[in-house]
Amino acid sequence: MLGRRGRGRLLAGTCAARPASSYLAGEVTGWRDRSRPCARRGGGTRRGRLARGSPRRWHASPAPALLVFVASVAALGSSHPLAAATAGAQTPSSAPLRYRVVGCRSFGTAAHREGPSRKEVAIGFDDGPWSDTPAFVTMLERNHARATFFMIGDQVTSVYRSTLLRELRNGDVLGDHTFTHPDLETSPDVRGELEETIAAIRGLTGYTPCVFRPPYGDYDESVLRTARSLGLSTILWNVDPADYTLPGTATIEARVLEQVRPGSIIISHDGGGPRGQTLAAYPGIIRKLRARGYRIVTVLEMLGYRPVYEPCVELCEGIGVPRSKLPRNAILQRAPQPVGGAEPAGRSDPARAAANQRERGRGRLGVLHRDALRFALAVFAR
Ligand SMILES: [Zn+2]
Repeated sequence: MLGRRGRGRLLAGTCAARPASSYLAGEVTGWRDRSRPCARRGGGTRRGRLARGSPRRWHASPAPALLVFVASVAALGSSHPLAAATAGAQTPSSAPLRYRVVGCRSFGTAAHREGPSRKEVAIGFDDGPWSDTPAFVTMLERNHARATFFMIGDQVTSVYRSTLLRELRNGDVLGDHTFTHPDLETSPDVRGELEETIAAIRGLTGYTPCVFRPPYGDYDESVLRTARSLGLSTILWNVDPADYTLPGTATIEARVLEQVRPGSIIISHDGGGPRGQTLAAYPGIIRKLRARGYRIVTVLEMLGYRPVYEPCVELCEGIGVPRSKLPRNAILQRAPQPVGGAEPAGRSDPARAAANQRERGRGRLGVLHRDALRFALAVFAR
């Protein structure tokens, strides 16, 4: 008894649950003859006649041809020109899907003074964002180089939003340099210093950092563990021109070139004081390092950490890239779905726009399938 009832349900369910496109195709090709008729469907006799009838009947009547057409439209969905046109009429946006960098993923518990012994150098600029930072970004753009900016959270304000987005667009990396620049070996709140800076960067840019540089290079095992628990890798340096002492542009350049070796990580400063000397030194440093065969890379590239991207559609904020332009090792994650209208802290509009766009896409397909099915049923009922 149970088995028979179960079978009946299964068949009815199969019919009802089958997508409109395959269901309609099944009608035309005789698929329905291998199953039981669906419940609540009138005109069974007529359907039976059609199914058993001569193939010539299909060609004689315009209805089947029309049915095939409608089924095709439903099956093709938005890729069909007609469907696309319909969809376009229902939704004003037809922006192509792009991807926005939203963070990076680091690993390991070691503090890094240098990277693997390859002819690569990573430049780190500390203590920004600062009034000189936009000029540093322009300098890097002109020299087609990228750097890692270790930022003080307290200075990450809306004044610098466009500068930080420019850095992200250029492939620079945003890093955590604590919120108030304390000595973390004596600070009572290491976690708070790191967390607040992550929140400030994320809130302003939608980017979650995965690297951290302790002020003054002061750290201990506890600091490393805390940083790791927040997804941060600790980055130190093995090249220090002491640019903060303002020794002059030529001296800064000479010190860097003297100390660099394969896999070096450099510390310099774009903030915390007048940084004109440092700014003026770097075009020469970059040019001469390249002449020696070095590549200028970010800390992420040097250590094999991966950038994380999410799809964005309408509000990519000038930093969205097509899929073809994504780094080869990029992690692609789904944009979060909006829950109850509340936007998660630090979550920027692009993610929400992408989620909404997908929802609209699904809605359009649903309408197409439903309308095609209704039309087909109306033709059969006549
Ligand atoms: Zn610093």
